[in-house]
Amino acid sequence: MSKTATTIYDLGRAELAERLDGMATYRVDQLWRGLYDDGIAIAEITTLPASLRAELEAEFPTALDLAAESVSDDGETIKWLWNLQGGAAVETVLMHYRDRSTVCISSQAGCAMACGFCATGQAGFERHLTVGEIVEQVIRARRAAGEHRVSNIVFMGMGEPLANYDPMWTAVERLHGDFGLSARHLTVSTVGVIPGINKLAKADLPVNLAVSLHAANDELRDELVPLNKRYPIADLMDACHAYFDAKGRRVSFEWALIDGVNDRRSDAKELSRLTQPLRAHVNLIPLNPTPGYLTQGTPKARVREFAAELEAFGVNVTVRRNRGTEIDAACGQLRANSQAAMASEDGPSPATASTTAVAPPTRR
Ligand code: SAH
Repeated sequence: MSKTATTIYDLGRAELAERLDGMATYRVDQLWRGLYDDGIAIAEITTLPASLRAELEAEFPTALDLAAESVSDDGETIKWLWNLQGGAAVETVLMHYRDRSTVCISSQAGCAMACGFCATGQAGFERHLTVGEIVEQVIRARRAAGEHRVSNIVFMGMGEPLANYDPMWTAVERLHGDFGLSARHLTVSTVGVIPGINKLAKADLPVNLAVSLHAANDELRDELVPLNKRYPIADLMDACHAYFDAKGRRVSFEWALIDGVNDRRSDAKELSRLTQPLRAHVNLIPLNPTPGYLTQGTPKARVREFAAELEAFGVNVTVRRNRGTEIDAACGQLRANSQAAMASEDGPSPATASTTAVAPPTRR
């Protein structure tokens, strides 16, 4: 793992002032305002003298170097692939809705959680992102958003945020305190890292917690989400209850619908038993095809039926629009399909057959 140089968004205000020891406080203020209130590059902070801007740029490089951009859904969705120092690459997605814009950010280059259906999981872990690499994704997306107000941040890009806890949390605090987002507009998504959830429950900002559940019994979840063997469902639900009790925030569950695997009526029934005591919200999304996983997403009609079954069991459920670029589908796919996605206006192209493909779990 290569050591990365300090980039401009790595430092908090006090740390930056310390590094710039000797610089007048009003200059530090101007710099900070330019970086966070205006979200502009150092070169554009014209309240600072040009010579100072040049010095600052030389000392603090930006973390993200654009590798690819993909626009889809009539400009509603923009994805970026960034090259980082040391050769890793991560994705960020900006999504515009009628009244808000959401940025989906990565917390690690790669991921060690090894969920077989996930493009990032298939590729394995490279390294943790730094605070600056996380924060800059939001700043760059806001710059591109223009008139649209970036109101929500979700840690649903590449990586497991709770496995990179401290940088993730410092980034959350920065996005809250300096970027100006309220905690209820920040969502941390986890595959179920219980110690991380417990830590989050003790933290002072009540962010939203999303749990990528995908299966409601241990036998199936052990196959889909290997971490389940370490942190099984009952313990995970206890941690979710504790989070709800501590923060008063309803937990949401992500459920990627996999054809014939987790989309049966019995799955809906089991899921409802888990969600009801928590009054949790369920987000359904048909699985997006990835090169390393042979099973497809649940067909549209069955997705609707599954949602209706959940509703009938009393579950609060949303079906996410599958526009090929939906946040949950973004995980690792731009990097995996970089070439194909760049050539297409419709988001990632369907997965191609791969010799490294693994068979999905079979139903009994
Ligand atoms: N590691 C964290 C953050 C990543 S969020 C977590 O697992 O929650 C990315 C979301 O997209 C997760 O819910 C993940 O399970 C889901 N996902 C991954 N691959 C997918 C695919 N091929 N189709 C649909 N959703 C997928």
